[in-house]
Amino acid sequence: MIVDGHVHLSDDPDPARGWPPFTADHLIAIMDEELPIPGGPRVIDRAAVMPMLGPTQRAGLSFREQHRPVIEAIRKYADRLVGTFMLNPHLGVDAGLAELRRLVAEDGFRMVKLHPTAHAYWPKARDFTDPVLEEAGRLDIPVLIHTGDPPFAVPALMEPLVADHPDTTAILAHLGTQKIGYSDDAINVARHCDNVYLETGWGHQPRVAEAVQAIGAGRMVFGSDCPVQDPYSQLRIIETLTRPGPLGINLSTSDMEAIMGDNLARLLRL
Ligand SMILES: [Zn+2]
Repeated sequence: MIVDGHVHLSDDPDPARGWPPFTADHLIAIMDEELPIPGGPRVIDRAAVMPMLGPTQRAGLSFREQHRPVIEAIRKYADRLVGTFMLNPHLGVDAGLAELRRLVAEDGFRMVKLHPTAHAYWPKARDFTDPVLEEAGRLDIPVLIHTGDPPFAVPALMEPLVADHPDTTAILAHLGTQKIGYSDDAINVARHCDNVYLETGWGHQPRVAEAVQAIGAGRMVFGSDCPVQDPYSQLRIIETLTRPGPLGINLSTSDMEAIMGDNLARLLRL
């Protein structure tokens, strides 16, 4: 099963970026493109979807309103899409967690995301972050944490947080890579903390190879960051690891499948 663990949906244009909407219909059309992946042609079977950043930065919208396009998308495509709740702690941690519990129970949401850059807070602001990791542990859902840009989303800043919650699964998004690459840093956090998974998307091919060699395929997950990144371009990097060196690392087909989706299907209980 191929599972894209990181997709943003919107029904409205993004005023900050000048982007047109990216709806569930757009996403499903991309997921259904047949990809020349071994064992294929293959489609992207499932995706974890969350709002664009803009709505989650607006204090005038309730958590429910921020996630309305996501809720409608997973109801329309219940067999393909699963919800991720993006919690802006500035808008109220307790209220956010109450909405998360409702969405998990009633709409099958399966992940919660922290975005220290978009929401402007330090991961060491533990009154913001500890309750989220504690609740995720209770709900048995992973926490997706944006990483890759200073000052708030440097992967090393996440280590005390994830180390203090060993029973909560944390996924470091983007392999620590945005305009700056902190992949070594992200890999080190995962080496130190068994509860940490690394997302491959945005990671450069040699850095993804290093991550797999450092922590094993069992804690690597595919997430494209669509529509910022194209899913197939990110899947292709994983597939290339099956080549012999120096291009690849002789990754086995079963390890490739684990990274492309089987690991995430287990974490999200798909
Ligand atoms: Zn994201």
